[in-house]
Amino acid sequence: MDFLNQEFYNLIDGALVKAQKGGTMNIINPANNKAVAVVPKCTAEDVALAVAAAKRAKNSWKNTYVGDRAALLYKLGALVAAHAGELIPMETAQYGGPVSKTSNFDIPAAIGEFELMAGMGRSVTGTTITADPTARILTLREPYGVVGLITPWNFPLVTAVSKLAPALITGNTCVLKPPSCAPLTVLKLAEYAVEAGFPAGVINIVTGPGPEVGEAIVTHRDVNKISFTGDSRTGKRIMELASGQVKSVASELGGKNAMIVLDDAEIDAAVETAAYSAFFNSGQNCGSPSRFYVQEGIYDEFVGRFVRAAGKIVVGDPTDPKTMMGPLAYNACRDTAERYIASAKKAGGRLLLGGERPETPDMRDGAYVCPTIFQVYDNRQEMMQEEIFAPVVGVMKVKTADEAVDLANDCRYGLCASIWTRDYRKALKLIDRLEVGTAWINQHLKIVPETPWGGCKESGWTKENSMLVFEEYTFHKHVWLELSEQPHTFWETMLDLN
Ligand code: NAD
Repeated sequence: MDFLNQEFYNLIDGALVKAQKGGTMNIINPANNKAVAVVPKCTAEDVALAVAAAKRAKNSWKNTYVGDRAALLYKLGALVAAHAGELIPMETAQYGGPVSKTSNFDIPAAIGEFELMAGMGRSVTGTTITADPTARILTLREPYGVVGLITPWNFPLVTAVSKLAPALITGNTCVLKPPSCAPLTVLKLAEYAVEAGFPAGVINIVTGPGPEVGEAIVTHRDVNKISFTGDSRTGKRIMELASGQVKSVASELGGKNAMIVLDDAEIDAAVETAAYSAFFNSGQNCGSPSRFYVQEGIYDEFVGRFVRAAGKIVVGDPTDPKTMMGPLAYNACRDTAERYIASAKKAGGRLLLGGERPETPDMRDGAYVCPTIFQVYDNRQEMMQEEIFAPVVGVMKVKTADEAVDLANDCRYGLCASIWTRDYRKALKLIDRLEVGTAWINQHLKIVPETPWGGCKESGWTKENSMLVFEEYTFHKHVWLELSEQPHTFWETMLDLN
């Protein structure tokens, strides 16, 4: 399926528009490397118009009753639901996520995110502080004003919504840049925003290359806050640019997540979750486990069964409902994965599964890599240190649980990790030492919008989802109402007032 007969537009100041300079970019289906759509390719000029519109809209949006803002978010969510039939194949075609994922997760999750944020966001409050009886002291939760939202391609729609919805409900106006390779479903959102009746300038959506359009958003003096999800390298670049104006940056970055399987683990659950969470979405999940530390008593059985289970994953055409794993998002992702596979072999890793492209006629032209598992002997190898963002993982044998935690912590990333054991007391003690933002016991990759999501270290220190996300889109303005008629000062006996 392609969308070449459809027009895709940016949304700027309430109007669906082409790029100012008329630029366009082709969107490529990674399953066959054919173009599926043509979208606007913006420049800094489009960003300037979008930011100016967002700036004009910010005061009236901030002063709109929160229930009215919520009503618009519900409407937008309902429009996504009404168009699910169109959005599901579009999401699949633009980055290769199988329909089993885009229909069961991406579109329902985006709708859920609108509903949850519209509901929860109505009760965001400031505080009162009773420290001084001569005053009433409070904090007001204020929106930042214009926020820039920059998102990746691995969950194109839902990642955009998980920024847009909390930003809007708390009274910010937005300039959103979806990923250049997969902007289609977010551009459909632009059309629905107009249909829902959002005031002009409240939501602006611009497409284009990160180094030009993304950086123009980050460096624009009227954008007060950036919320970014993507690669840690890009995150560092954005923080560097934003520091010029001391801009607040929320960053959800890469991960190299550990799954620790101890001798007393429930093995069926551990094997099934390992295969699913490592290879779901072709391993292109920031939260996927990509390094496994398995205690020696269970190592042979766990690894043998993990390899057998992963070998049964159905890889193929992402539009087939039976497909479990589609291609990677584009050819360069496959090439990167293949470079890491070659370097793991060279470094002495033992290939237990995969390591190649599926060479069937239907997949030969696509960006496919088979599920790949290496046995690794050195934690400092790339396979255990670098985010590959592909269906490529390493397993290592460990003697003790403490050794597993030490190895898990020996990494610059700190997004998430899981521990598999029947002993919850032991697991809780180990989790105290794990350097991550999210830790599961006997679970991995379970992320629901009511719970906070985010990491530490080079994975970024931000939280998305849950009530905590509102901290990212508001700041606390402290207001002091003096009650005493003659406030105390240190000069009161020294200063002559007459
Ligand atoms: P990416 O960093 O290449 O791109 C993300 C976005 O940033 C895109 O919209 C891109 O166009 C833009 N961008 C690129 N260069 C830019 C620049 N110089 N200035 C401003 N914007 C720029 O990431 P990706 O390849 O799209 O996504 C995969 C990465 O995202 C992985 O590292 C993954 O772990 C991470 N990710 C993290 C989370 C999380 O919650 N921590 C969630 C999803 C994805």
